[in-house]
Amino acid sequence: MILTPRNRTYFRKPFPRARGDYPAFFAQQSQKDCFEELDVEKCKVVAALDKHTCPICGKLDGTIIKMSDYEVGSTAPPFHPWCRCTTAPYFEDMEGIGERYARDVETGESFTVPKDMTYEQWKAIQDKKYGAGKVDTERKKVYNEVADKKQFEAYKKRLSDEVPKTFKDFQEFKYTNPEAYKDLTEHYRYKGRVPEATKEDFETYKAIKAIGIRGSIRVPALPSQHAYILEDKSSKRDPAHIMHRMFERNISADNVQNYIDNALFSVKQYKGTRRVFYSKEGVTVLTYTQDYDGIDWIAKTTWSKYDFEETVEKAIQEAIKHGK
Ligand SMILES: [Zn+2]
Ligand SMILES: [Zn+2]
Repeated sequence: MILTPRNRTYFRKPFPRARGDYPAFFAQQSQKDCFEELDVEKCKVVAALDKHTCPICGKLDGTIIKMSDYEVGSTAPPFHPWCRCTTAPYFEDMEGIGERYARDVETGESFTVPKDMTYEQWKAIQDKKYGAGKVDTERKKVYNEVADKKQFEAYKKRLSDEVPKTFKDFQEFKYTNPEAYKDLTEHYRYKGRVPEATKEDFETYKAIKAIGIRGSIRVPALPSQHAYILEDKSSKRDPAHIMHRMFERNISADNVQNYIDNALFSVKQYKGTRRVFYSKEGVTVLTYTQDYDGIDWIAKTTWSKYDFEETVEKAIQEAIKHGK
């Protein structure tokens, strides 16, 4: 590929310079002057063959620039802030003669490769040696090191033993086990929401969620609270709904309270204005109220195990299976 002002896809105009980039701009500018003095007609982009090189520069490695199109920060490096690319004179009849340096992505040792080897070829060789995706993985480790370190510390603090022991192991895990890593991030968030949850609670939560219980599920259940059996004045249809249901279903006030006290898990619904407590014996739903002084939650409805839907039945079974 020849890089011209027409196909310079990355920066149509030289990009704004970051403070650290002035040396790179000056170096490339003097490189240009030097090539012109030597009557060089074309030059070639030379990216570093190591794990620090980004995909943009990697793709541009080996591309040819006519000196007439040479524009620092656009068709010629730097291609982006902190770009490490340089240029070298290009002569058709000299292709393949000489060597260039490359680094091993794992050991960091440098070695020489034929001069016309491109970044993509070097990458393919490294990936073959260490397994597919190796170069990308190692680059991510380098690029994200600062953020990953913060994340590692936060994860260790919240999840202790669940997190790989060392930072090195953590990064390796993060970039090579996407499924397991996703599970760890989910566990981290879950423990943020439910601080007292054990690993087993988290597994129970996932199993219940998978069954299709809707709302924000919590294992263990929310702390117990008193179920006031009062009229729900905000209900236009049936303010005494809870009393009707208790009567129809032969559920006592003690039962209503016991379903809460012995809940295996709870679920928040309606933007947190409903709390549903699920126990082996039955379910009690509380609703937020502003109708009574000093009382925030009243019982909304209840049903016993004889009226469990299939999903609730399954969810209860999952909780029991996980040792609840
Ligand atoms: Zn780059
Ligand atoms: Zn570069």
